Amino acid sequence: MPGFELFGEEEKKEVNDVMSTGIIMRYGFDGARKGNWKAVALEKAICETFGSKYAQLTSSGTSALTTAMASLGIGAGDEIIMPAFTFVASFEAVLSTGAVPVLVDVDESLTLNPEAVRKAITPKTKCVMPVHMCGSMAWLDELQQICKAHKLILLEDACQSIGATYKGKYVGTIGDAGTFSFDFVKTITCGEGGVVMTNSEAVYTNSDGYSDHGHDHKGGADRGADQHPFLGYNYRISELHAAVGLAQIGKVHQFLAIQKKNHGLLKGILSQVPEVSFRTIPDPEGDSCSQLSWFLPSQDIARAVITELKAQGIAAGNFYWFDNNWHYIRKWDHLKEVKSLHALSAAQTEALVKLKTQDFSASDAVIGRCISTGISLLWTEEQIKEKGEKLVAVIQKVLREQTVSA
Ligand SMILES: *Cc1c(COP(=O)(O)O)cnc(C)c1O
Repeated sequence: MPGFELFGEEEKKEVNDVMSTGIIMRYGFDGARKGNWKAVALEKAICETFGSKYAQLTSSGTSALTTAMASLGIGAGDEIIMPAFTFVASFEAVLSTGAVPVLVDVDESLTLNPEAVRKAITPKTKCVMPVHMCGSMAWLDELQQICKAHKLILLEDACQSIGATYKGKYVGTIGDAGTFSFDFVKTITCGEGGVVMTNSEAVYTNSDGYSDHGHDHKGGADRGADQHPFLGYNYRISELHAAVGLAQIGKVHQFLAIQKKNHGLLKGILSQVPEVSFRTIPDPEGDSCSQLSWFLPSQDIARAVITELKAQGIAAGNFYWFDNNWHYIRKWDHLKEVKSLHALSAAQTEALVKLKTQDFSASDAVIGRCISTGISLLWTEEQIKEKGEKLVAVIQKVLREQTVSA
């Protein structure tokens, strides 16, 4: 799953290149850096590897989303339709631009239900933001059709699905813009970092300036001579972080191949249990396989299986019951209670308060039954077999007990 599992000499070499000159900032110092432009090189590698026309690195996936939204002209009062199942960073970015998050249900793809999106459109809707969760992809054809019909922006949060494809194209490169995160636990990492990808020169130019205080980067070697055509912020990546990412992207196809192999082996073992079903994948060919997401027949059975896995010290990966407070609306009390350190706008506050009473039972029925198992790059076949057999044993034990008590 995370690229940090396979750190090696490549990362050290790239970082040492930067340390040998001491120029750890990505802009300026042209002579002193002795030809080392790691951020520029990583942006080029991202374009080549994933088939995006432009790429703008940022300090995180969250700041990449914020930068993308601003660069697409999304701001105060604009509604962004997004899923109730994602990492909190998705709504953080929305709120930070002044936009209004409109949360809707996911289906068994673990991503936006296109029908729920259609129903949530209002005259204030400006953007649809699918999140490609847990290594796989959203219903992009359907979402693209909706965006086209209603003249909406399609922004892909592909932060946790680096390397997934949809009908032959990498996710993150299909909408008006898309983002990856390179935080420490993502498929490739910079330590901290993110990227905005787009095929629009205008969106790229905006991202380039917005993430660096509004610099137009036309002053040559003298940063002080740059103009500031619009307001920006500091969401820059450092050369040290970019150096790590440059080493990692060189190995991304290797990581993906290992993920696919290990995922296939584990899925084969779990498939022996007829009561286990698997997540719907809109384009099965394109799964990055960073996680294997599977369902149990009911929320009660899922809860019992997770409880038993925990008791046996086996990592489960459930976002509904006990494991994880960060990825699903049910655990986002700080959002629903509008616990912001600074005042939010009236429109934002109203939208958040509404979340407390909104019906998410369709999502509950999916997330409450789901277990997402992270796929390690380091597992041996032996270890996968052992893990799979332990999972199967726990599921069968719970199913037996349920039948007895029923
Ligand atoms: C990781 C992640 C982000 C944010 O990335 P950071 O680099 O940690 O800021 C955004 N969205 C999703 C779905 C993520 O998984």
